[in-house]
Parts: sequence; structure tokens; C-alpha cells
Amino acid sequence: MAEMKTYAGACHCGQVKYEAQTDLAQVVSCNCSICHKRGLLLTFVPPEQFKPLAGVDNQKLYQFNKKVIDHLFCSNCGVESYGTGMGPDGKRMFAINVRCLDGVDLSTLTPMPYNGRDA
Ligand SMILES: [Zn+2]
Repeated sequence: MAEMKTYAGACHCGQVKYEAQTDLAQVVSCNCSICHKRGLLLTFVPPEQFKPLAGVDNQKLYQFNKKVIDHLFCSNCGVESYGTGMGPDGKRMFAINVRCLDGVDLSTLTPMPYNGRDA
């Protein structure tokens, strides 16, 4: 399972496209206020494993709480296919919405609960 692969990611309408390299070893199901409502399954990658291909300027930015995470929504279909923010170590991370990656069988993943509500 833990094999590094390049996945193609996109929003629903395809305006936003990217590639992400990940082994999907750590998929997080977070219970923070926004993930709870949106049902996101996330995996985190550093910038060198993330390549935006299209639609960077066609996204809307949403921030809340401490405003440290950029939640990016496609301006057309409203899907948040990824977000970005600073990790605890001050390095930029990309939060990939695993549901938006092609060729991922979600039933093979065991998402780890993350208590983002109290973070
Ligand atoms: Zn879209």
C-alpha cells in the first residue's frame, strides 16, 4: 500500500487541476468545524510533492479561526480539492482532499481521526 505515486487531482468541474505525490500512508479524517461539514479526507504533502496544473486563479479563498489555512474552492463548482497552510514547523504544506484524487479506492484506506475541533 505505502507506495509513492503521482495522483491526478481535480475539482468537480475540472477547472482546478493538480498533481500530488503521496503514498496515502496517512489519511486524516478531521473533525474541525469545516472538515466536519465538508467531509474531507486529507493527506498532507510538502510543496515539492505538489504541482498545480490549472485553475489557481479560479479559486476562492476562505479562512476562519486563526486564518493559518487557506481553504481554496473552485469558483465554478465550489469543491475544495486542496488547501494550503503552514505546518507546526513553519513550513508550507498542502492539504490534499483525497476524495478529489483519481484512482483512489477510498474503501482501502483507514483514515485516522484527527481532533481538529480542539486543536
Ligand atoms: Zn470546479
